[in-house]
Parts: sequence; C-alpha cells; structure tokens
Amino acid sequence: MAEEHTIAVLEGDGIGPEITAEAVKALRAVESRSGIRFHLRYAPFGGRAYFETGASFPPETQKVCDEADAIIKGPIGLSHEESKKIPTHQQPERGALLPLRKRYNTFANFRPVYLPPELAHFSPLKPEVVGDGINIMMIRELVSGLYFGAKEEGTGENGLRYVKETLEYDEQQIRDILHVGFKEAQNRKKVLHNVHKSNVLISSVLWNTILDEVAVNYPDVTVKNILVDAAATAMVLHPRQFDVMVMENMFGDILTDLAGGLVGSLGLMPSACIGPHKAYYEPSHGSAPDIAGKGIANPYSMIGSLALMLEKSFALTREAGWVWEALRAVFREGYATTDLADPELGYKALTTSEFGDMVARFIAF
Ligand code: NAD
Repeated sequence: MAEEHTIAVLEGDGIGPEITAEAVKALRAVESRSGIRFHLRYAPFGGRAYFETGASFPPETQKVCDEADAIIKGPIGLSHEESKKIPTHQQPERGALLPLRKRYNTFANFRPVYLPPELAHFSPLKPEVVGDGINIMMIRELVSGLYFGAKEEGTGENGLRYVKETLEYDEQQIRDILHVGFKEAQNRKKVLHNVHKSNVLISSVLWNTILDEVAVNYPDVTVKNILVDAAATAMVLHPRQFDVMVMENMFGDILTDLAGGLVGSLGLMPSACIGPHKAYYEPSHGSAPDIAGKGIANPYSMIGSLALMLEKSFALTREAGWVWEALRAVFREGYATTDLADPELGYKALTTSEFGDMVARFIAF
C-alpha cells in the first residue's frame, strides 16, 4: 500500500493563504512524482478564524491538528489597526499561535538561514562579508520564557497603570533545547554558538550552568559563548563565523528576523517547530499585511517549510531534496519574486503564483 499522511493546513492571515497555496502545489508535485499520498485538511486559524468563528484557534481546528500527522501553517496576524477589532487575549498571536505551540509543546524551532554561493548576491551585505554564502542553523526555544510567563496588568497604589511579564524557565526546558542544539552541531561543523545575556539576566546564568552540564555529553562540540547584543552585531559584520546558534525564545524571535535581513528577504526564511509528538511548519516571518492580496509575496519560506516537514516529520529526505533543488532552480533560471528580483542583477520578476508554478514544474520534472 502507498505511504499516506494526513496534513492539517492552516492558511492564516495576510499573505498566508497566497503562499500556502504555493506550498500545496509543491506538495501535489511531490505526490505525483513519489506516489506518496498526502490528505489535506484545511482549518481556520488566526485573525480570519476569529472573525469567522469567534475564536482564533477554534475547537474544530484543534481537532484537525490533533488528528493530523503534521501541520503546515501560514503566517497569522493583522495590521496594527485591524488588531484593535479583536479582544487582546484573542488576537492572533496570543489567541492562536502561542496556544498552538503550547498544545504540542513544539519547543524546538529550527530556522535555517541559507544563501548558497550562487545566491550570495541577494544579501545586502558587501560581497567580501558574505563570501561564498551564508549557512546558519538558528535554534530557538519556542514554548517558554517571556512570551509564556505569567502576566499581570493593573493600576498601582500611585494611580499609575503598570504591566508585569515574567521570564520563566526550568532546567528541563533549558536542557531539552540545548540537547537539540548540541545534536545539530554534531551533525554539522561541531561548533555551537550559545547566545545568552548572563551579565544581566539570571535566566541566562541558569541557562549557561545547564549548558556546561549538557556539554559533557558532546565532547566533540566546541561551545562559543556570545552575549545576545554582541551576537546581533557579529551576525551583520561576520555572519560566516556562525554555524549552529542556540538561544531562548525572545532572543531567537529577534535575531532570526535579523537573519532574514542578512539573506535579503524574510521571504527566504522557512522554519520547523518540533515537539515530542507533533510538529508544525511555518515561515519565520509574519503575515505581511503591507503586501497581502497583491500577488507579490515570496512563497520560498512556505515551500521551504514544506521541505522541512518532509525531512523532519516523515524522513522523506529524497523528496525534500527535490523541493530544495526546485527552489534553487527558479533562481538559477533568472527568476525571483519582487522582494529579490533586482533587474540590475538580471532577474525577471514573478508573481507568487508563477513562482509556485515553476517550483512545482521543477519538482515534477
Ligand atoms: P512581517 O514579517 O509580516 O513583515 C515584515 C516585512 O517583511 C514587511 O515589509 C513584509 O512585506 C516583508 N515580508 C515578510 N514576508 C515576506 C514574504 N514572504 N515575501 C516578501 N516580503 C515579505 O512583520 P510585521 O509586518 O511586523 O508583522 C505583520 C503581522 O504578522 C503582525 O500581526 C505580527 O504579529 C504577525 N507575525 C506572525 C508570525 C507568525 O505567524 N509566526 C510571526 C511574526 C509576525
């Protein structure tokens, strides 16, 4: 019997449905070339889900996700003005994204930052800084820290409004993500950059203590410690010194967007969010309301996330390779979406859908 998988598809908001449609085209092309069957179950999620159903992560969507073998998720989120139409606790990140991460304990977020030599010119950095490309695996802890800690707001005795947000980690949460970082480093260049802020935050002091304990299991991996603020500068000035980087939740949120700048567009940033029993796959970027509906979003991040799903959820390495190769082939043929298609570099601009069609053709080839 042919291999079969059920995938929950959460299209999301803004450019989400546009780029998800292109990932589905790629998946259908993989299906026809491999004979593997993928059953897709679409479900509402995010701001649009709230307007349609009254909940950002409705119970029926939770059920679809529970029953799926893996989840593909488009970005969610509304423009600043649109967000105000939804109660704070139901706004897409708080009402849907964080609960999704918590529900499946997707603590390990892999964000590859990859510009192969032939695409190095997409980086806004000087050619001598980028050299023969950028290849970093950023690993972000995704279900703890400041984004998940207890929150409080109110008015103090002095009559001033205040908020209190808590940065919480326990040692097991830190240990789990550090093991992921060390294992990834072992499989690559055996160097792990540990990003922390131990000169100010005691959460980083505990993090580094656990790191020393975990490191004993990986004698072949060299650890390089770097403060998060220094890391931001170093990533711009000398990005090629990094191979695998591991960090807590908020540091990872910010530094991976910086990485999107390094490679020339957030549209080149896929990601995998892995838990013990379930994983979901989404671009690193948001819903880009500024370009939604214009047909110009770069679907690479979404199609790359699909390739990560094939690799990490189903061990379909050969099929994932077809997808990565097809993505590169589009650029090699001189095409790109408008975020990257600089006519001076000889690129012809494609719409979102034309880009997806071309990827699907290269996969099916
Ligand atoms: P954003 O990442 O959506 O966009 C930042 C910039 O990058 C914009 O100029 C946008 O046009 C561009 N961009 C992003 N993806 C692109 C793509 N695929 N192709 C071409 N250009 C692309 O960040 P934002 O504007 O600050 O946030 C918009 C919304 O997304 C907010 O509501 C935010 O909360 C949400 N968000 C969601 C997620 C998620 O779903 N995981 C992550 C980050 C932000």
